[in-house]
This record gives sequence, C-alpha cells and structure tokens, in this order.
Amino acid sequence: MTAISSDPHDAVDRFKKAYRVLLTCHRNPDGDALGSELALAELADRLGIESVIVNRDQTPANLSNLPLVERIQVSETLPDDFPKAYDLVVTVECPGLDRTGFEGLPEVPILNIDHHPANPAYGVVNFLDEHSPAVGEMVWRMYGEAGLIPSKEAATNLFVALSTDTGDFRYSNATGRAFRTAAEMVDAGAEPPMVANWIHNHRSLASVRLLGEALRTLRIACGGKLALITADREAFRRADAGPEDTEEIVNIPRSISGVEAVAYFKQWEPGVVRISMRSRGDVDVRAVAQSFGGGGHQNAAGCAVSGDLETIEADVAAAVAQALGETL
Ligand code: 5GP
Ligand code: MN
Repeated sequence: MTAISSDPHDAVDRFKKAYRVLLTCHRNPDGDALGSELALAELADRLGIESVIVNRDQTPANLSNLPLVERIQVSETLPDDFPKAYDLVVTVECPGLDRTGFEGLPEVPILNIDHHPANPAYGVVNFLDEHSPAVGEMVWRMYGEAGLIPSKEAATNLFVALSTDTGDFRYSNATGRAFRTAAEMVDAGAEPPMVANWIHNHRSLASVRLLGEALRTLRIACGGKLALITADREAFRRADAGPEDTEEIVNIPRSISGVEAVAYFKQWEPGVVRISMRSRGDVDVRAVAQSFGGGGHQNAAGCAVSGDLETIEADVAAAVAQALGETL
C-alpha cells in the first residue's frame, strides 16, 4: 500500500520503524536539500536509528559550514553495503527518483519527502506538501510529530533550508507559515546573521569567476523581458569551476528591471546541457522545463537536455519566449 499525505504522521511512523536509513537528495544539492538531510540524520540519532547520508554531487562551498556537514558522503555510486544493510531510503526534495543521480534505490522501501507540485509519489510512504515553503519546514514538523525539541544544530540546518528556499524570505513562498516556523527555529537556537554570513559570504572564487564568464554572454530579447546566459565548457575550464559553483548566478539577470524570465545554460560535461529557468509572476517556467523532460516550480524550474549547445539554446529560448507570449 502506498501512503500519500501532507501530514508528517505516516512519515514519522515509517521512519521510527527503520534500523538503518540511507538519506539522499537531488543532484547539485541546495540549502533546502542539505539542511533537511542533516536534520533528518540528527532525528535518526535521537530515535536510535542508524543513518548514512550519500549524495551524488558535492556540497557547495557556501553550505560547507552547516552543522554536522562532515556526515555527508559524496559518491557516484551507492555504498557497497547497499541494499542489504539498509531497511529504508529517504529521498529529500526529489520530484522523481532519477533526480538523486543513483540507480537501484527501489531495492529498499522509500520514504519520499518533497514539496514540489508534480512529485509522482514513488515511495512506500510519501510525505508531500506543495504548500510547504521548504522541505526543511516539513522536517521541522516531523520533529514536532516525533515529540522532540530540535537541537540548536537541527534548528540551524532547518533555518538554512527555509531561508535559502525562500530567497531570504523574499519569494512568494515566504508565507506566514514560513515566518512562523522561522520564528520557532530562531527560538530553538538558529542565528539568522550567522546563517546569512555562511550563505552569502562564503562563495568559492570559482563561482565568482564563473559568474563573470556567464555575464559576458548576457543576451536580452523579447523587448527586455527575456534574459539568456550561458556557461559553456570553456567557461567552466577558465573559471576552474564545477557544477557546485553554478548556484545563485541565475539571480543576477533576473534582477534586471523589466526582465520577466531567465534561462541559464550550463555545460560542464560533453553532450548534456543543464538549464536553470527563473521567472516572475504568472510566467510559468515549470511548464517549459517539463516540455524538455524537467520540472520544478512555476517561477524556478530546470531540466537537462542532451545534444548540441547552440541548438538547445535556440529551442529553449524559443519556448521561454512563447511562455512570455512573445516570439524570438
Ligand atoms: P535549479 O535551477 O536551482 O537547479 O532548479 C530550480 C528548480 O527546478 C528546483 O525546484 C529543482 O528541483 C527543479 N529542477 C531543476 N532541474 C530539474 C530537472 O532536471 N528535473 C526536475 N523535475 N526538476 C528540476
Ligand atoms: Mn526546496
């Protein structure tokens, strides 16, 4: 039987029954994914459950100060003792199992925790809440459901999750619920100035160099409504950058007055282009991302497309232009 609920009851119930849990999240992890995983590992500790965190991609430099971050293992493959040594997999923020970058996870029952609107409920238990501002807020509710008061470390990790996913409480998911939970996290020991300092003042040099590379390619179209930027393989090489250095860059063209949609093309390996899309208001970039096999939220979405960079740029730009009611 598959359980689907926006209430943490079933998730906590299933979690408590586990002996050894494998925690993982989406490729190119962000603050919400990492903060939530770390707080879940601590929840496992407190419930007497063993846990291992394995992610497919590196932790970005600006998130490397998170409490307990050393517990995160980064690997291209699942651990040697998987599946036999585990009785539960927890996926964090993965609107599709492929987003983990691992194969073979369904050999163990899956607890799927996510706030994306189109999550297909691939777990045995699915804690899904598209109205939640961040998975971190959902994990916070799991602590409440388990009757535990989060430690200062857990509160800090979950505050990182909530503040990064709401863009420092500036996006449309910065709801009353987000602020109320944030207040509880601060009361439990999270320190907003310290977290803001980690997030915003610990960028890698490579990520700032890559920003420069990407901004040199800025193209404006559709009468100023559409911005396009690209970091190709040469740009990654010159900046000495990797996928973990790509975060935040897309927000710079988004900040230009009059821009309503941005597509940011990234190619760090041959044959595959990853695209981050951002928009304002009613412009739905999730639908565009979905048409290329990806997904996300209305105003923040992404996809990965195989093929030649220039062709992909032209095709995706045309689709975003159409979402703006324009043609290129
Ligand atoms: P970002 O541009 O920051 O990588 O992703 C923005 C949003 O789109 C996030 O919510 C992320 O989970 C989602 N997203 C990015 N790439 C993909 C993808 O390939 N598939 C799906 N389903 N969602 C994606
Ligand atoms: Mn999130």
